[in-house]
Amino acid sequence: MKTKKILLQESELPEKWYNIVAEMTTKPEPMIHPGTKQPLTVADLSPLFAEELAKQELNETDAWIEIPEEVRDKYKIYRPTPLVRAYGLEKALDTPAHIYFKNESVSPVGSHKLNSALPQAYYNKKEGTTNLTTETGAGQWGTALSFAAKAFGLELAVYMVKLSYEQKPYRRSLMQAWGAQVIASPSMSTKAGRTILTDKPNYQGSLGTAISEAIELAMQTPHCKYALGSVLNHVSLHQTVIGLEAEKQMEMAGEYPDIVVGCFGGGSNFSGISFPFLRHKIKGGKQTRFIAAEPRSCPKLTRGKFQYDFGDEAGYTPLIPMFTLGHNFTPAHIHAGGLRYHGAGSIVSQLLKDGLIEAVDVQQLDTFKAGILFAQTEGIIPAPESTHAIAVTVDEALKAKEEGRSKTILFNLSGHGLIDMAAYDQYLAGDLVNYEVSDDEISKNLNN
Ligand SMILES: *Cc1c(COP(=O)(O)O)cnc(C)c1O
Repeated sequence: MKTKKILLQESELPEKWYNIVAEMTTKPEPMIHPGTKQPLTVADLSPLFAEELAKQELNETDAWIEIPEEVRDKYKIYRPTPLVRAYGLEKALDTPAHIYFKNESVSPVGSHKLNSALPQAYYNKKEGTTNLTTETGAGQWGTALSFAAKAFGLELAVYMVKLSYEQKPYRRSLMQAWGAQVIASPSMSTKAGRTILTDKPNYQGSLGTAISEAIELAMQTPHCKYALGSVLNHVSLHQTVIGLEAEKQMEMAGEYPDIVVGCFGGGSNFSGISFPFLRHKIKGGKQTRFIAAEPRSCPKLTRGKFQYDFGDEAGYTPLIPMFTLGHNFTPAHIHAGGLRYHGAGSIVSQLLKDGLIEAVDVQQLDTFKAGILFAQTEGIIPAPESTHAIAVTVDEALKAKEEGRSKTILFNLSGHGLIDMAAYDQYLAGDLVNYEVSDDEISKNLNN
């Protein structure tokens, strides 16, 4: 009998995260404090983030960082996640390629984001934080942090972009069910929110404003810290549990990936599936290709520029050396909300610069077409974000067919799309469109 799911025992859950920076030949350039213009220190970051997370953020020496027992205990709610051989998809494509996917959609919040939300809540609790703040756009990160905060006994306030607050009521209900306070942003609860609301009373909000509000509340409230769900190095670090499990599972399947694919927003799930395999490329021996799949409407990796930029629209974060479209770039309203981000984390940016990874951009309609094919052959409705990875996987599998040779492709299914059915509705009704970005739109937000 053919094996469909390759499963690990709970006892095989990784004990350490993998910190790729320690093994990179060319380290990422340092993040810079925007005020002092000096490389960032743990002391700069700790007013906002738990100190242990600030240390992880800047750690360039330890390749392996222990996962606390309390975090592993919570990971066990859904980890280890299955590695699945996509026989149905292979058959539909009539490809000699072997396609595997790591199924992160089985987490209780429906995406990989819980892998970092849990340790972020844990370290905060351990250091005496009582309250957390964060922002959320489409709602996946807010959802994950709501459950994680509850799991470790923290109060959470989520600033949710007002437009999403009204358009995505189920993500809001999920956060409230897990006990978070969800505030439509802009709100009257912060100075940043009041300033905007008194100026533009009907403003529908933006991620930039929501970040400003979350940071302001954290800075002004005792024992309150802020948490971020992508882009930063410590987030990528936590996500390596995905690839570390997948590495063992591929070995059990008796295969090694020729190609690893992940969709790309700020880079956390792509890093998570890739870095553990990438270490064998850095150390020599393996020639695996790593492909980041981004939306054509937000092409920071394929058409952005490598420069220092802020991680947020408001300009509160440190300056990060990144491939970026400029922090003022406003992407089109594609349904893959988690991929509407202007930049890439510093590690991934350096890896791309050094040619160790590649990037491909995909049109919205092609991603939904691939998503429907996946749903019909493998049964799972993928998140609109994850369909980008599926579209690239399908392309590579079809290339393998043309070339008449077998290839092993591994992609990360970052989440399911059961709360995104409005997007599928529009696609099936023929109401979705593609978005292109002109060179002018791209260059106008970048330094020259
Ligand atoms: C947030 C999200 C993404 C994009 O974020 P990354 O940090 O690039 O991984 C992708 N898929 C899903 C399901 C998400 O929720």
